[in-house]
Amino acid sequence: IKKIAVLTSGGDSPGMNAAIRSVVRTCAFMKLECAAIYRGYQGMIDGDFKDMTARSVNNIINKGGTILKSARCEEFRTPEGRQKAYNQLKKHNIDAFVVIGGNGSFAGGLKFNEEFNFPVMGIPGTIDNDILGTSYTIGFDTAINTVVEVIDKIRDTASSHNRLFFVEVMGRDVGHIALNAGVGAGAEEILIPEQNLGLERLLESLKRSKKSGKSSSIVIVAEGDKTGKNVFELKDYVEEHLPIYDVRVSVLGHMQRGGSPTCFDRVLASRMGVKAVEALMAGKSNYMVGIRDNNLILTPISEAIKAHTPVDEELVRVSDIMTT
Ligand code: ATP
Repeated sequence: IKKIAVLTSGGDSPGMNAAIRSVVRTCAFMKLECAAIYRGYQGMIDGDFKDMTARSVNNIINKGGTILKSARCEEFRTPEGRQKAYNQLKKHNIDAFVVIGGNGSFAGGLKFNEEFNFPVMGIPGTIDNDILGTSYTIGFDTAINTVVEVIDKIRDTASSHNRLFFVEVMGRDVGHIALNAGVGAGAEEILIPEQNLGLERLLESLKRSKKSGKSSSIVIVAEGDKTGKNVFELKDYVEEHLPIYDVRVSVLGHMQRGGSPTCFDRVLASRMGVKAVEALMAGKSNYMVGIRDNNLILTPISEAIKAHTPVDEELVRVSDIMTT
């Protein structure tokens, strides 16, 4: 392997730039050539490449999003599209690539590897923390800190008006963001897809909290929760069955994906970038870099894309205790 390419694919997340920087600088350190691919697999197909040096990634470690842009690319799902991508990689003398992204991006990389026997390494970049084979994905820590900061602010206004707030947070099919930010921000209830407590329990809990003298309440709702009601329907339901609260809804949305990455995400991304390049140079392919017990590990992509990481049972228990 003489030349490695790096791309970001799927949804962006804070810390992706730190990972790009790490891959580029590790290549420079190891005297390898490095190319950046813009706009994910679409750019791979279009030949949107740029040679990188250690200096190409100055001053990006602190920036959210991805300087390489990200994209979703239907064409890469077809054999013809992947053939075009392969031709472009060959044309640019690229011997391996590192893809920073989520499950879909890894599935694409795996398929590509199977067809062309082309070395591929994955780095998990998503705020959802839903990828098997790593305790943390790049961007998750930044996202939960953003959510906690916003909930603290919502609490200020909620307690000034004796209000109940339903705050919807991202996380797709899993409740990692909701659970962690909920515990961190001291939410009264946390509704996550992994644990459907039912609407009765929600009403009971809110009643109890009002009786115990709480003037305001914050309920965190994961976007994938299984109550069968969205946040606005939850508001209507609670107002109808428990007319003691003035209920408001706040859907946090894409602000959760932006912002300058936390130190944790920058360090994680830097470590994962080094590991990805070193693993490729050691002859490994089709793995995703992950972290467990503060050690970097490699998980076959085929395993990583099989399922979502379950939420931490111990944290669910802590959250139950904290919300009594
Ligand atoms: P996130 O879900 O965090 O936004 P992701 O990487 O899972 O990130 P996707 O949109 O699922 O995002 O996938 C990114 C791109 O990967 C797709 O647009 C497509 O080009 C490619 N891809 C996904 N699945 C496959 C597949 N089965 N075969 C080939 N390519 C795929």
